Amino acid sequence: MIEYLIKKFKKIPHTVEKNKPRLLVFSGAGLSADSGIATYREANANNQKENLWKTYDANVYSNYQNWYENKEKLFDFWNQRKHEMLNAQPNNAHLGLANLQKKYPNQVFLATQNIDLLLEKAGAKNILHVHGKIDEMMCTDCQHFWSIGLASYNSKEICEKCKSDKVKPKIILFGEQAPLYNNLYELFDFRNRQEHDIILCIGTSFKVINLDMIIGYGKYQPSYKILVNYESINSIKEARFDECFFGKANDNWQQIERTIEKHLNI
Ligand code: NAD
Ligand code: ZN
Repeated sequence: MIEYLIKKFKKIPHTVEKNKPRLLVFSGAGLSADSGIATYREANANNQKENLWKTYDANVYSNYQNWYENKEKLFDFWNQRKHEMLNAQPNNAHLGLANLQKKYPNQVFLATQNIDLLLEKAGAKNILHVHGKIDEMMCTDCQHFWSIGLASYNSKEICEKCKSDKVKPKIILFGEQAPLYNNLYELFDFRNRQEHDIILCIGTSFKVINLDMIIGYGKYQPSYKILVNYESINSIKEARFDECFFGKANDNWQQIERTIEKHLNI
């Protein structure tokens, strides 16, 4: 685990490219909504799909305290999500972020709450998945984790290290520790930011992770701050952002990208 964290920390070099502005991206379920993946709590612009926690009881399907008692249900539920996510295609926003990363090497850092692999499918690299991702399993007895790639989760699998059957998808459930939050806070901390950095918060309600205080506002907490969400919601203080785009991320992407590039090129 420690090795993994060290590796991740190395991906957050605030010293690299010191003189160039960086783009720091924090994304959530709304980034993938236009690819047909349901959001969990807030409105989904493509509301042919209800948001998930209205349909399913999060205490049964996504609770760390009782996950083992609900193991079969939990595996069924996450296998459905995995299947849905593997069949989805990246939208303009995923593709645009991946292209920016290619075009501005060492300047673009992607952190996401999403467990899908759509940014990877779009060609993006080194993504900080703070809630885990769908291609890994873990043992809650010894913390060992491993990749299972695109295969379905198998509830009969046991830990190859300690032989425990307390094996689950490596997705952060409610009440579970999320060690990569430290890396996220480090990445966005205003004390590590440079004047011309750009922050893009896209498709997130801030209800699960609230970066509000970290993002800050005003000249003492530098950088150009952009918010992209389907609609205005009161869990986010819009005054802290320099520019807000409301509507579907997929439809607004060209305009969003122009704004980002204008600031990346100064
Ligand atoms: P959320 O469901 O709380 O909020 C979704 C946000 O996305 C809202 O602010 C909404 O306005 C916005 N949105 C919806 N459709 C959009 C669109 N087409 N374009 C732009 N914005 C759109 O999501 P959250 O803040 O990410 O928190 C929920 C938790 O569940 C997170 O951990 C999240 O990652 C996880 N989750 C992950 C996935 C995934 O991996 N794709 C899907 C659902 C939820
Ligand atoms: Zn184990």
